[in-house]
Amino acid sequence: METFSNEVKQAIIFAQHDFCAMKDCFNQIHSIHHKLRNTEFNRKNFPLFIHSPFNAVRLCSKCHRDYSKHFEVTEFEAEMYEEFLNDLILGAVAEERANQDCPNGEEN
Ligand SMILES: [Zn+2]
Repeated sequence: METFSNEVKQAIIFAQHDFCAMKDCFNQIHSIHHKLRNTEFNRKNFPLFIHSPFNAVRLCSKCHRDYSKHFEVTEFEAEMYEEFLNDLILGAVAEERANQDCPNGEEN
């Protein structure tokens, strides 16, 4: 099944210093938890957000089992992130096109 890229996994490990994200837990990371569940519905409706770092949290095995609900993202929040990521991509594409349309743009 489709999941987080290695790039996202490494970034999350680095950001969390290899420790579980649960407050007051100092166990080592065991697995990456999708805050919004990795279901077919969510993959279809939130294709940019679902495997992004915004939807990833690394937990130890105990906290993954007992406390993953603490890190839940609502569908409303997922929509907000999805729009944000979409705007970022559209902005990058527009910028690239603007640079291509105006080859002399770098001279000013
Ligand atoms: Zn933990």
